[in-house]
Amino acid sequence: MTGTTMTAAPVRGIPVDPPPAVVSPVVYLLHFDQAYRHAGHYTGWTSDLRARLADHAAGRGSRLLAVVRAAGIGWRLARTWPGGRDRERALKRQGGASRRCPLCGVRPRLTVGGEDRR
Ligand SMILES: [Zn+2]
Repeated sequence: MTGTTMTAAPVRGIPVDPPPAVVSPVVYLLHFDQAYRHAGHYTGWTSDLRARLADHAAGRGSRLLAVVRAAGIGWRLARTWPGGRDRERALKRQGGASRRCPLCGVRPRLTVGGEDRR
């Protein structure tokens, strides 16, 4: 078995492209400033969050975000999780995006007695 091609030997003097940044997929949650119909969030995944958000900001990449944009509703990145499509699917299956959205008032439970008293 010959024929192993080892091309792309670095050429002296020519900068080699940096190795691709560790492409780790990430699941992200967008929180809409106002709900669109009954959608208040968008969950997606990408391996290039910055590019993906730029797409969404331009109304690309998601039909929901396109209509949200057309309706003049803004959104913010609420949080991310490491993971890809499977993670996204699992999160969507759980439902209740607002329950894991920090912008929706999810806050750590206060367990300190007295602190929370009026
Ligand atoms: Zn939210």
